[in-house]
Amino acid sequence: MTDTRMATYKSLNINLVKGQGAQVWDSNGKEYLDALSGISVCSLGHAPQEITDVICDQASKLIHCSNIYDIQIQKQLADKLTQLSGLDNVFFGNSGAEANEAAIKIARKYGNDKKIKNPVIVVTEGAFHGRTLATLTASGNRKIQAGFEPLVPGFVRARFGDLNALETIAKSNSNVVAILVEPIQGEGGIVIPPDDYLDGIRKICDQHDWLMMLDEIQTGMCRTGHWFAFQHSQVKPDVMTIAKSLGNGIPIGACLASGKAASVLQAGNHGSTFGGNPFACRVALAVINKMEREKLAERASVLGKKISDDFKTQLANLSGLTEIRSKGLMIGIELKTSCLELVGLAADIGLLINVTADKSIRLLPPLVMTDKQATHLVTTLSNLIKQFLKKQTHA
Ligand SMILES: *Cc1c(COP(=O)(O)O)cnc(C)c1O
Repeated sequence: MTDTRMATYKSLNINLVKGQGAQVWDSNGKEYLDALSGISVCSLGHAPQEITDVICDQASKLIHCSNIYDIQIQKQLADKLTQLSGLDNVFFGNSGAEANEAAIKIARKYGNDKKIKNPVIVVTEGAFHGRTLATLTASGNRKIQAGFEPLVPGFVRARFGDLNALETIAKSNSNVVAILVEPIQGEGGIVIPPDDYLDGIRKICDQHDWLMMLDEIQTGMCRTGHWFAFQHSQVKPDVMTIAKSLGNGIPIGACLASGKAASVLQAGNHGSTFGGNPFACRVALAVINKMEREKLAERASVLGKKISDDFKTQLANLSGLTEIRSKGLMIGIELKTSCLELVGLAADIGLLINVTADKSIRLLPPLVMTDKQATHLVTTLSNLIKQFLKKQTHA
């Protein structure tokens, strides 16, 4: 049979049809342990009963009605998100890229409102912010941009984790209105900046009247051990975007804003047909409720440390290993050689993992993964990595 889909994904030949918690099954009945959660989306695992019940209940009542009506459940979700983050208000969209588009529009309008005609946003090398024109321009990866020129104007790039680079830009470019950055780079290879990075960014933003905008689409919603990764620091952003696990698989994204950034967008400035619909909002509220009740941020912190410590023990003294980096359940194992083929090899033995930035094995397990499953993950993946590196040196 011919495949009539656009060839945008080089997918594995695995047809997943069912899931439960951190386990999934393909159409042949083969079982896998999911250490990726659909790239940090299904943080509550697959088919959690409580969420499934809410999905069915809301689907039987009201899925959509348009933002021209007062959607009370959307208001409740906004209240909850502002409480958890300390930011002031929220715009709802349907994806990460859309949330970042809202952030970029806030930055642009913030600049234009203060008579900066060509506002510029600082972004970083290795960043990933999405696949729309503005967000692929903001992303720091030529592969994502190539072929889509002309790119969107109004971005300058700094090295990730480098506060001096920001100071240099601040001195030479008076058109800068904001910085957009991930607290930890996900697609970039689980790159963790120095501990003082966010505090330093806050200082520079305050000095130069830039908006501090954090892309927490991958790091947010308990993944790193707090509700949001910025909560590991002492500071708060002006703008924050989230999506991925907010709906545990039901598409929803959000752009939160605080203080002066919260009043930039006014009636008529932005919108979305599907954004903030009663269905997605009700599900997201249930997701947050479960994360809160089951203290899944703490769970991410404890289980993440255990998994990464265990990997460090298992892979100690391995010459092909560059480094193991982690914050909560965001775990990167960087090898010295390209290891993209590990994704298929792992799937063969019933393990769903990801490799990003060519050399970094990326693990984003569901926050509900059990200790036993975690032990299985570390043992089987460590053995696979050792075998893989052995073959490499003999090749
Ligand atoms: C996944 C991701 C995005 C894009 O989200 P989409 O829902 O695919 O548009 C943006 N930023 C970060 C950090 C991401 O991980």
